[in-house]
Amino acid sequence: MYQADEYRYQQMVYNRVGDSGLKLSAIGLGLWNNFGSVDPFDTQVAMIHQAFDLGITYFDLANNYGPKPGSAEENFGRIMAGDMHAYRDQLVIASKAGYVMWPGPYGNWGSRKSIIASANQSLKRTGLDYFDIFYSHRPDPNTAIEETALALDQLVRQGKALYVGISNYSGAQTAAITQIFNDLHTPFIIHQPRYNMFNRDVETDLFPVLKREHKAAVGFSSLSQGLLTDKYLNGIPADSRAKKGTIPFLNPTQVDQTLSTVKQLNELAQNRGQSLAQMALAWNLRVPEIASVLIGASRPEQIVANVQALQHLDFTADELTAIDQILAQ
Ligand code: NDP
Repeated sequence: MYQADEYRYQQMVYNRVGDSGLKLSAIGLGLWNNFGSVDPFDTQVAMIHQAFDLGITYFDLANNYGPKPGSAEENFGRIMAGDMHAYRDQLVIASKAGYVMWPGPYGNWGSRKSIIASANQSLKRTGLDYFDIFYSHRPDPNTAIEETALALDQLVRQGKALYVGISNYSGAQTAAITQIFNDLHTPFIIHQPRYNMFNRDVETDLFPVLKREHKAAVGFSSLSQGLLTDKYLNGIPADSRAKKGTIPFLNPTQVDQTLSTVKQLNELAQNRGQSLAQMALAWNLRVPEIASVLIGASRPEQIVANVQALQHLDFTADELTAIDQILAQ
């Protein structure tokens, strides 16, 4: 029988989400990969326990995470119904709707029909009574943002979500939907953008809007899907995500292009007494708007190593300049 580590809250940093009352663990665990029906369930349980033992309270799902789509929510639900049941109120569990989940015109994007049906399905799959945060996973160019906003607002009013968030919205789209949420008094608190050393567009487009509106961000692909770790320094290991046929990303060409940059960053990290992954996470957390950085993991040891990033969060001005110079090459 799992018993959570009694010292778990002493090791983690908790950041307030914008001007809301909610705090998130500075590192959150994402279940996009490695929690599907194709992945070993015992490892999934071990990773959730390991994360919580380290003080991670934020767990990030979406309707379609797997593969197969939906299976990450089912597996997380199984874990929550078991040993983690007693800790429900110590967790912030999020899910999302917006990418394709079921066939036909209603299983995708951001109509009221899709969002509400998808949230109901996600609650069923996870067996939860409510999500702490429910996100619109991406803006829908063919649905008025009022409609998507009202659907999210309704989830809150029905008690199916405590807070709402958006993901992959541009700065301008974020400003527009914030206005609507303000008018509705919806507890919209967070944006989930892609943010890492290789993807910095949000620094100029989105972060100024979040700052102005007192909202926070939780960054995804914080390690650029594993590229900002030491795992690809000497080629592509057989057990890595880059080798998994079921997951379309990180093809060998992409890895080769960036390998020299990654090697230089790795050297800089070592001079700071950190691994590259730890430095990459610390670097993301230097942004005041970022309340939490999501990590993916395929084994508990990666979570342990990544949480150690919190032991060295500060950067000298010279280190920041050096990182900018390496990235600009
Ligand atoms: P990361 O950039 O954190 O990449 C995770 C991968 O990096 C792991 O699966 C692992 O690869 C490798 N890794 C992690 N730690 C280490 C380590 N210490 N040493 C070596 N390798 C390591 O994250 P993801 O791209 O997976 O995104 C994280 C989460 O963000 C997702 O699970 C999801 O919740 C969210 N997300 C949201 C999106 C959105 O549109 N809102 C889009 C994408 C992600 P390996 O498996 O090969 O071992």
